[in-house]
Amino acid sequence: MKRYKLLLFDLDDTLLYSDWYKKGLVQTIGEHTLTKNLDAALFLKKKLHVPSHLIEKLKNREFTPEEFRRARWQHAFFHFDMTPDDEIINEIDTLFLQRGFSCIEQDPSLIQLLKDLGTHYKLGIVTNALYDPRQKVYKMGLSKVFPNDTIFCAEELGLRKPDRELYYAPLKYFGIKPEETVFIGDSWVHDVAGAIDSGMAAIWINTRGAVPTTGHSPYAVVSDVKDIRNLLLDFK
Ligand SMILES: [Mg+2]
Repeated sequence: MKRYKLLLFDLDDTLLYSDWYKKGLVQTIGEHTLTKNLDAALFLKKKLHVPSHLIEKLKNREFTPEEFRRARWQHAFFHFDMTPDDEIINEIDTLFLQRGFSCIEQDPSLIQLLKDLGTHYKLGIVTNALYDPRQKVYKMGLSKVFPNDTIFCAEELGLRKPDRELYYAPLKYFGIKPEETVFIGDSWVHDVAGAIDSGMAAIWINTRGAVPTTGHSPYAVVSDVKDIRNLLLDFK
């Protein structure tokens, strides 16, 4: 196992589960004057269901990430026969970010795992996150483990997984070859297939019992990121 030098992590639903998003959204809906009388649970359900045509527009670059975020709000509001303008949506989105990020908790065992991994490997994050990944990492208590330069954010780089260049950006930064790298994440397409196509090994975090959609062969499949301790820190 020691032949690997660099571990690259996905962020959302790999290191950080989406509870913060759900809690922050319900708090926001209950608080903002425009939405406080709406059914927050139903709003959350509509917000979490992103129509495929919106995702396609993001993938095809017809939407910027900011436009995509707004379109998701508009889509949810549409179910309540509401059409708030961009200014109000931006205001609600800002409130949501404040409330959501304040719901992000530190997980001591995850912090310890990453510190332990950091003594043997270089570590980085490669994320398509729509909301500031560095703030998330800070709230998770992981800023020392993942200094700013080691967080490769799709939005900043104008790329998105599975764009090949996004996987190469950290390799260039660290001066490490793809075959010396393990990518760890929950998305088969983005974190397993994309990483393997870039010459890396991959560990799939399959929390929901998903079925692979291609014939790629990951180094390992685990159900929780903490299961990688035995895979990556056992040098016997
Ligand atoms: Mg993910």
